[in-house]
Amino acid sequence: MDRVYNFSAGPSMLPLEVLQKAQKEMLNYENSGMSVMEMSHRSKVFDEIIQGAEEVLRDIMNIPQNYKVLFLQGGASTQFAMIPLNLFRNSKKADYVNTGQWSKKAISEAKKYGTVNVVASSEDTTFNYIPDLDKSTFSPDADYFHITSNNTIYGTRYVELPDTGDVPLVSDMSSCILSEPCDVTKFGVIYAGAQKNIGPAGLTVVIIREDLIGHAMDITPTMLNYKTHADNNSLYNTPPTYGIYIAKLVFEWIKEKGGLAEMEKINKEKANILYDFLDNSSFYKGTVVPKYRSLMNIPFVTPSKELDEKFVKEATANGLVNLKGHRTVGGMRASIYNAMPIEGVKALVEFMKKFEMENR
Ligand SMILES: *Cc1c(COP(=O)(O)O)cnc(C)c1O
Repeated sequence: MDRVYNFSAGPSMLPLEVLQKAQKEMLNYENSGMSVMEMSHRSKVFDEIIQGAEEVLRDIMNIPQNYKVLFLQGGASTQFAMIPLNLFRNSKKADYVNTGQWSKKAISEAKKYGTVNVVASSEDTTFNYIPDLDKSTFSPDADYFHITSNNTIYGTRYVELPDTGDVPLVSDMSSCILSEPCDVTKFGVIYAGAQKNIGPAGLTVVIIREDLIGHAMDITPTMLNYKTHADNNSLYNTPPTYGIYIAKLVFEWIKEKGGLAEMEKINKEKANILYDFLDNSSFYKGTVVPKYRSLMNIPFVTPSKELDEKFVKEATANGLVNLKGHRTVGGMRASIYNAMPIEGVKALVEFMKKFEMENR
């Protein structure tokens, strides 16, 4: 089988150039006599990898000096607990916006450690929009304010950040980090599981303002304390070494391509191809309120469940795989992260046209 266009929500496609470089370096990394998987995380050669990864990430995201970059494990889901454990440092209150399944999980985890105020929700219409926020409902003494910037399952994204004043804004950016420029100074914490836009599963990237480190609740396990990892440059214990190496290659790939501004340009072009097609179709329908449409995850449906199923099956046979929507939404979802080439989106639209002709 040839390589396919993989529309998976995650783990998802990696840039071919990155895979090829990793392949070339697999058996003997930079004359070390071993693969990156086999080397000590305390070795000089690995130190250059992890420091290099941080350096390039800081460069492409323009991360200020008063923020730490941490390479952790446990996925974004572990951050759902680490955020409250580390940030409930005064009132033990936090504001959350409920925009989907990941927000909900973050909320239920935070509730174990303090008081959660859900300031708004879009659950009434299966999360197909981002709710308007009313500042008067925010808790002025909240320890932090949490959002999910891009909702992977439902295909929505914030077009405007909430104005939280002095309350640190925390964002789950698992499915949109590195997809467009991001003003890090607007956030207290940004976190992301790697398996969508960064690299292989098993690595979680946390970008945290330094003043938010060092106030963890007493019950916080050592491994879940940001201070542990910040003080040890993410080398307190064995980090996900190979994942960090691939992430470095991905960061370098982004930089070579022209950085986040260029990523955004390409991502908008890709998403517009698909959204324009959906908007002009009487057969397919996008499921998200247009204003809040994601650049990364694009859910859509045909006129019936039977046709949805047939679509997924025939698309797969045509090398367009993992288009089945999330089990809670149904239909289809095309995840078109940074590594999805524009040709993949064009191939999908061509297939959609053909499928419509045959089935309408
Ligand atoms: C995928 C995803 C998660 C879950 O990530 P894990 O690394 O599997 O824990 C959380 N939040 C968002 C927005 C996601 O897309």
